[in-house]
Amino acid sequence: MKISNYRNLIIDMDGVLWRGNTALPGLEEFVATIRNTKTRMVLATNNSSSTVDQYISKLKRMGVHVNPEEILTSAQATSSYLYKIAPKRSRVFVIGGDGITNAIRDHEFVLTEDDPDYVVIGIDKKITWEKLNTAVMNIRAGAKFIGTNPDTTYPTENGIGVGNGAILAAVKAATGISPLVIGKPETPIYEQALQRLKSNSSDTLMIGDRLDTDILGAQRAGITTLLVLTGVTTLEMSKASVVQPDLVLTGLPDITSGLLAV
Ligand SMILES: [Mg+2]
Repeated sequence: MKISNYRNLIIDMDGVLWRGNTALPGLEEFVATIRNTKTRMVLATNNSSSTVDQYISKLKRMGVHVNPEEILTSAQATSSYLYKIAPKRSRVFVIGGDGITNAIRDHEFVLTEDDPDYVVIGIDKKITWEKLNTAVMNIRAGAKFIGTNPDTTYPTENGIGVGNGAILAAVKAATGISPLVIGKPETPIYEQALQRLKSNSSDTLMIGDRLDTDILGAQRAGITTLLVLTGVTTLEMSKASVVQPDLVLTGLPDITSGLLAV
């Protein structure tokens, strides 16, 4: 597998471009090489709570300039998906932060607790029994159940916390209905990334640090995969996994070299 054969990249951010608030070594050179080699990229994240502008600012602090259309959050992917399948002005009940609420509002859906056509759930740090109850009752009454991302845990400074997948599981337990999930490792977010790149699965490479989301999802979408070891996966974990990426590299400098190799 030759990296320079791929001029369309779907790239995970956390654990690939940075850890916490610290850029990973080689980030500036990596993005400069993407620009110099006319490679296209979409930075795709399962996080639905942050907005595109917040990601642009974070990357700017790390010395890197990206355009809004180069960032795809699970909130945007969910909103775009709904826009594609749902009639205009459909009624949507949303649980989640600004990321998902704004994305749904941007597509001119009607945000309501009352008789919605869809219940959309993203991570909500102010989750309450009332919100869960409203979601459950509406889904029981026939509203379609959609989740931005399936991650059951969420990393915090104090340790592993509750992720959106755990909220989806609670609603599933009370309704007996599974959500349609948009984020990795499900395919809708990859399909939207390919649309943005105007590429297809055979000429696109996914770069990520998680086997069970980034890599598995890309494989389901028929996309070639590259695992980097700067995030949650060690070489030992990768060797022991049933999910096997096409290529494993230590970090961004190796990918930069690969992009430049002819
Ligand atoms: Mg990651």
